[in-house]
Amino acid sequence: MAEILTYEKFKEIPLKEFSYDDETKGALQVLKWAYSHYGDKLVYACSFGIEGIILIDLIAQVNNKAKIVFLDTDLHFKETYELIDKVKARYPSLQIELKKPSLTLAEQAEQHGDELWKNNPNKCCEIRKVLPLNEVLSGATAWISGLRREQSETRKHTQFLNPDHKFKSVKVCPLIHWTWKDVWRYQHKNGLDYNVLHDKGYPSIGCQPCTAPAINPGDLRSGRWTGQAKTECGLHQ
Ligand code: SF4
Repeated sequence: MAEILTYEKFKEIPLKEFSYDDETKGALQVLKWAYSHYGDKLVYACSFGIEGIILIDLIAQVNNKAKIVFLDTDLHFKETYELIDKVKARYPSLQIELKKPSLTLAEQAEQHGDELWKNNPNKCCEIRKVLPLNEVLSGATAWISGLRREQSETRKHTQFLNPDHKFKSVKVCPLIHWTWKDVWRYQHKNGLDYNVLHDKGYPSIGCQPCTAPAINPGDLRSGRWTGQAKTECGLHQ
């Protein structure tokens, strides 16, 4: 049996190589390998953006009992929660869990002040996203993310398999070669539900207080944390 690729062994074990000249640009191959390699030690942290919808559909073809976690900050759009209900109905055997932070919004306000996302968004993301994901990943060896290289400068060097220094895990990114057009072509072909906010100028959707319609059509993440230097929630380096 092949030695398990862990964070600690990332530089020691030759990495599995994947071609990406097939219909899913390597995504299905990567997912098949990842689920057979990691079994139930693999978690998908899904944001339920359009990339997440594509990945869920691909994952369901590979492992219809896969564990999928949504970091439920309690600050998402109602449209996002409605979409999650539709996805649960479409893929009833997937294990979709909404992971909450340890602090409620009221407790966070009491301990750190009102509207922390305005005064200290990094702290807010730490409490509501990073720490909960850390808990989720404590029982996992690897996690799946829907990052695409095209999304931003900070993501353009992402590989199919990445050492995740923050969470001491292996980050599996099956969609790195997909373009925005590829994503929507797949959605259309398969009639997949998606967040209706995508039709209202929001290519990237996170928490309501920190997400606006994209201000630059060429930059898919330009509606996230507008007016602030922040570009990532702290889950991806
Ligand atoms: Fe808080 Fe905004 Fe981060 Fe959501 S995206 S956790 S509201 S700072």
